[in-house]
Amino acid sequence: MAVSMRTDFPGGNGLLLSVDESPGRPVVRFAAEPRNCPQALWFHFQLTGLGGRAVRVVLANPEQTLGGVDWSGNCPVLRQESQPWQRIGRPQKLQTPGGRVEWAWDIDAAGDAIELAFCYPYQPADLAATLEELSGAFKTEFVGLTLAGRSLIRVFNRLAQPHRPAVMLTARHHGGEVPGSWVLDGLLRHVAANGALREITWWAIPFVDLDDVVSGSYGKDPFPHDCNRSYGPSAPRRPEAGAVIAEARRLKSQAASLFFVDLHGPSHAERAVYLPARSWEPGAPINPIAHEFAERFQSATPEDIRSPVAFVTPRPGSNSRYPGLPASRWARSGLKVDSITLETSYQGNQHRDYTIEDYRRLGATLAETVAEWLSVRRHG
Ligand SMILES: [Zn+2]
Repeated sequence: MAVSMRTDFPGGNGLLLSVDESPGRPVVRFAAEPRNCPQALWFHFQLTGLGGRAVRVVLANPEQTLGGVDWSGNCPVLRQESQPWQRIGRPQKLQTPGGRVEWAWDIDAAGDAIELAFCYPYQPADLAATLEELSGAFKTEFVGLTLAGRSLIRVFNRLAQPHRPAVMLTARHHGGEVPGSWVLDGLLRHVAANGALREITWWAIPFVDLDDVVSGSYGKDPFPHDCNRSYGPSAPRRPEAGAVIAEARRLKSQAASLFFVDLHGPSHAERAVYLPARSWEPGAPINPIAHEFAERFQSATPEDIRSPVAFVTPRPGSNSRYPGLPASRWARSGLKVDSITLETSYQGNQHRDYTIEDYRRLGATLAETVAEWLSVRRHG
């Protein structure tokens, strides 16, 4: 039976370029689809018709991905039939006579069908399963529509009260940045299991760029406008940002205090979890709490998954091809609350490739660090 590729499911991405069935191990060349974005990154596809054969999978357009051509340290994830997701090894570099580079991963024989993704997929159904497992610790509410008319939701443990500090979390401002979702998943689980943390008011918009999450686009600088560059000037530039702004304003007005956390993934190969000390646009000021929060978070992180760096300080304007203010800078300058952005690696740290459970442990650490931060701010 011939090998074929499917992407007709939520988050699917990948274009089949060619299948060479002549060697003992079929060779499947594919490209990560940019869809509505200037750069590609995300992919998630299923291969069928393997008939128990091993397979070589080749990414043919690394030059078009955010982070560039060097995928030598990247370990995508694989799911075989009903097994859990697991990392595959690092790729082999292939070079064409003209100098183009492609990357090949060899996958051992495993049944008829496999799924491959850039990193562990996380869709609304995964969040729903987690919330179900947490049996009522968090509720959901409709908060607005996306550009394409999908329903945005807020996940929350309680309504705001004037004597309680509040935390507002956002994830997936860029549709493909799944590490942010797994960190949020771990944070929600940790809060649900911890009475002291449940005293804090936690609100989250788990999928801001929901259209790109579902359609499988990376969602960085998409047409017509990047969700996380839609917060000014003249905000909102997109309805998703409008919903976040309304929620954050409401929460600030009803709570004792508000702390804003925006969860992201960096470029494809970075092996670090860090706070940017400022945002990337020209003229962006230093976030006054970034260094201290970053160091607290880094030292609270279990050693095996700890990041080698706590924060980075981007040069102002180093990423100026994305015009507009990001959410966390708007939270500081427009809403006037403490805020951070957290970039979580798709890969791991310098010693370890992260598992799903590792991302959840980072989320638990984040919950503890935020709670400690709120308590220090409150009491001295
Ligand atoms: Zn991002």
